[in-house]
Amino acid sequence: MSNCAIVGINWGDEGKGRMVDLLTSDYDVVVRYQGGGNAGHTVVNERGKFALHLLPSGIFRPDVVNVLGNGVALDCENLWTEIQDVAAKGVAITPENLKISDRASLLLPWHRELDGLEEARLADKKYGSTKQGIAPFYSDKFQKKTVMAGELLYPDKLWEHLEGILEWKNLTLEKVYGAKPYTMEDLKQWAADFGEKIKPFICDTGAFLRKAQREGKSILFEAQLGSLRDLDYGIYPYTTSSNPIAAYAPVGSGFPEAKLDKIVGVVKAYSSCVGEGPFTCEWFGERADKLREAGFEYGAKTGRPRRVGPIDIVATRYGIQCQGATDIALTKLDVLSYMDKIPVCAHYELNGEQIDEFPFPAILPDAKPVEEYLDGWQCDISGVRKWEDLPEAARKYVEYVEREIGCRITYVSVGPERDAIILR
Ligand code: GDP
Repeated sequence: MSNCAIVGINWGDEGKGRMVDLLTSDYDVVVRYQGGGNAGHTVVNERGKFALHLLPSGIFRPDVVNVLGNGVALDCENLWTEIQDVAAKGVAITPENLKISDRASLLLPWHRELDGLEEARLADKKYGSTKQGIAPFYSDKFQKKTVMAGELLYPDKLWEHLEGILEWKNLTLEKVYGAKPYTMEDLKQWAADFGEKIKPFICDTGAFLRKAQREGKSILFEAQLGSLRDLDYGIYPYTTSSNPIAAYAPVGSGFPEAKLDKIVGVVKAYSSCVGEGPFTCEWFGERADKLREAGFEYGAKTGRPRRVGPIDIVATRYGIQCQGATDIALTKLDVLSYMDKIPVCAHYELNGEQIDEFPFPAILPDAKPVEEYLDGWQCDISGVRKWEDLPEAARKYVEYVEREIGCRITYVSVGPERDAIILR
């Protein structure tokens, strides 16, 4: 029995999905503990290519039980669509292999709409939301103005609870944004269309996880996004509205007393970032286009071109510290194969001084990247499976990153496929 969290070290899209898909074979249970359908994991396996938004990445392993914990933004509509898409490709999804926390709060029909209305109001000051309703959802959760999934099991109590929330929410919709109010009929229709579908999966995930652990089963906690998008530790306010850091995994899963034995931090061999906010190592123009194309850096959920740059040592070191990572998985090393020199953002410069500490968010936009270059290898490494078979320059790059970030790089990924991995 051992527990592990797989988390993003940077701005998200580091390749966590592929690492969870790989490592799930060692675990009995996979838990998503935060976030909603706003980001996506891409998993490539023998059944095809899947963009998962809410479903845990263990869903493809027949013996794995998947859990959506109380920390997630439970969007019944998107979840049901996702369940149907994955099931259509031959993956059975039943209450035996998918369990939804009765304490997960529900993303209500107006949350998505409010996200769009607020971004439109902010115009050029927008946060770059994916408009999946995540920020309005979490603010309502903390104001205690949404309902828990378990309430779907008690319709009379649910309607009574929703009536009060509806009255309050319509004030905002009508008076602040001039939008159309919702009715109880809208909510009952939504519950019938989507709430009913997820009802069979709802249970006390804490009780399930505790029992699993007592029976000696091991648990993998899976996060969305990365350290720099963490609400408390990221580049606020350009963060997500939840805590992707590993320390939150036990809290967001329904099993607050769980211990983490291993924390695998996923870092990409270069940087990418979706949406707004300071991104110190950012490249522009032709070199950015080339890297974006080589790494196919377009949002899994939105299709938006991602901002790209070289690996950012300063941000990565900070991200590792926030996660308490014990091991690093360095992904997409193969993408750098076209470069004759491998760039790294080794330090920042702030007010004329070279610094190695990640700056406080308010002054982060003033930081400038200090780039250094390592030798490239310029050959295809996607078929390499052993450390000693990597070209020397590629090994030197990995060793350089390992030394600078101060954490062991245990896995090196050289392709999206399950087996395209080098274990060190
Ligand atoms: P996640 O949210 O952290 O899982 O990140 P993404 O869904 O954006 O995944 C990163 C993308 O890179 C996906 O399309 C993966 O299939 C792909 N990928 C992951 N690891 C590698 C790798 O080592 N090499 C290449 N070429 N692609 C990879």
